[in-house]
Amino acid sequence: MTKRMTFIPEQDWLDHYMKANPAEDRTEVQQSLRETMAFKAQGGRCECGEPIWAAGSAVCGSLMCFSCITGEADASDEYEAYLPDDTLKSETRVAELML
Ligand SMILES: [Zn+2]
Repeated sequence: MTKRMTFIPEQDWLDHYMKANPAEDRTEVQQSLRETMAFKAQGGRCECGEPIWAAGSAVCGSLMCFSCITGEADASDEYEAYLPDDTLKSETRVAELML
């Protein structure tokens, strides 16, 4: 059983990430994050069957869970990003319309 990571709002995660990676393009990172969060919100899972780690997937470019990305079981030092409910619902609706 993996230890749970901390869930923080999308903007807080971006602040945190940009502080550690100032050379990255915040808009691009946010776009990737929106895509991985939408995938996760629709029940998207890693090859191993675990729900994906949206924040980690946005950074590494593959839709995978924490353990498959890092090779570790303890996620308690890591963060997962989430959107406020309304935003997530409209993002998911957009994704559904595109199917
Ligand atoms: Zn996995």
